[in-house]
Amino acid sequence: MYQRKEWDEICIDDLEVYAHHGVYPEEKEKGQNFYVNMILYTDTRAAGQRDELTLSTHYGEVCHLVTKWMQEHTYDLIETVAETAAEQVLLHYPLVQAVDVEIRKPQAPIGLPFGNVSVKIRRGWHRVYIALGSNMGDRKKYLQAGVDAMKRRADIRLQKVSSWRQTAPYGGVEQADFLNGVMEVQTLLTPRELLDYLHEIEQEADRKREIHWGPRTLDLDILLYDDLVMESEELTIPHVDMQNRDFVLGPMAEIAGWVRHPLLGLTMGQLYARLMSAK
Ligand code: AMP
Repeated sequence: MYQRKEWDEICIDDLEVYAHHGVYPEEKEKGQNFYVNMILYTDTRAAGQRDELTLSTHYGEVCHLVTKWMQEHTYDLIETVAETAAEQVLLHYPLVQAVDVEIRKPQAPIGLPFGNVSVKIRRGWHRVYIALGSNMGDRKKYLQAGVDAMKRRADIRLQKVSSWRQTAPYGGVEQADFLNGVMEVQTLLTPRELLDYLHEIEQEADRKREIHWGPRTLDLDILLYDDLVMESEELTIPHVDMQNRDFVLGPMAEIAGWVRHPLLGLTMGQLYARLMSAK
């Protein structure tokens, strides 16, 4: 999501934290100095115009949060220190869209002369659209279970849910009508991690998968993930067939009509109008 716009930056350089991270026992016992650089990607416009701290992110609090976190935990790897510190900042400060965290460890026990070692990562919130479908049992209940599952974890934030619409089955298999909709979430998960979570929720809904395109209690598909375009064995984003499905484009036009398909160049509203006029 942070790719979409030029964000403002709040920068913190060389925060010094005495902590106990490292693979070697003496590092865990004795401890050493770590230095933290952070860039918070956010929008400072309103705070800057009104000179009002509550409209921005308090960098002092961020420094205290990260220091406390690093001193209350002990990890082998500075990768983990960076990963968990970034997550803490993103979970605690809603105005921060993304964060760069660099953890430097200049006294690492390498046994050779060196200046510095560090790990630097960027993490942030991603805007994702997910399609929901059900055509078995209590369809509304299954769709609602899919929505509720998005509220169960801190690294997913439910933003919007479309209305449900009834649709004749797709793919030529004789079966009951579907109930479909879409939802928008923000998440810290990668596409692959999100797919794994969606599969877990489908499993919880007792999904039977004997027939391809056959009956299902709950089907969850990733439609869009920021402006990402990717193909792998398990995952194609944007969803490969979304532009041909009125039960996807209708709800997308309802909650995200202005969102542009990154490959086709048309908005959801335009794609839906095009599909309807071709019928
Ligand atoms: P289906 O039975 O139609 O729900 O297909 C499920 C399989 O499609 C999943 O196991 C995924 O590996 C694969 N897949 C490919 N692209 C996507 C996507 N964008 N969202 C969800 N599943 C996908």
